[in-house]
Amino acid sequence: MAESLTEMAKDLTMALIEKDLIASTDTNQYLHQIHASLRELKAQDDRTLASGESREGETAERPPALDWKKSIRKYVVECLVCGQTFKQLSARHLRQHGLDPRTYRERFGIPRTQSLAAKETTAMRRRVAQAIRPWEKAPTYVQAQEPPPAPTPAPAPPKRTRKKAAPSNP
Ligand SMILES: [Zn+2]
Repeated sequence: MAESLTEMAKDLTMALIEKDLIASTDTNQYLHQIHASLRELKAQDDRTLASGESREGETAERPPALDWKKSIRKYVVECLVCGQTFKQLSARHLRQHGLDPRTYRERFGIPRTQSLAAKETTAMRRRVAQAIRPWEKAPTYVQAQEPPPAPTPAPAPPKRTRKKAAPSNP
């Protein structure tokens, strides 16, 4: 749990830096503050849950990210079941919720073509794939690298020659 709070604090801090709301030099200070606030919230949450109070009234404060589009962010993807964030939502994690990538998509109405990874992770993977397999983008690349198929002497139709050279036919 502590680890995911740290992750959340990190993500929030990154988001703030990204939006130029804080200077990156203040990162540590904010990281600690945010982490502390999160821990407080978490403690409150646990207390509320323990006391059996309804959390209905609090949903405005912390709306569950049920919109899957909001769960796939630039640097993290949020698990819509438990709210943990990852670079990539793995099948192994989903199994903890009795789901797999297919049923997870079904449950939250995520298109099959949508990768369950942070946007930056998806983009990075695409870049890597292109670096490894450049011909996927440039089909001429392979042709230039490989010698053309052995110059078969004009598909000499053997049938025709045989026909000509076969006078047995009347
Ligand atoms: Zn989860």
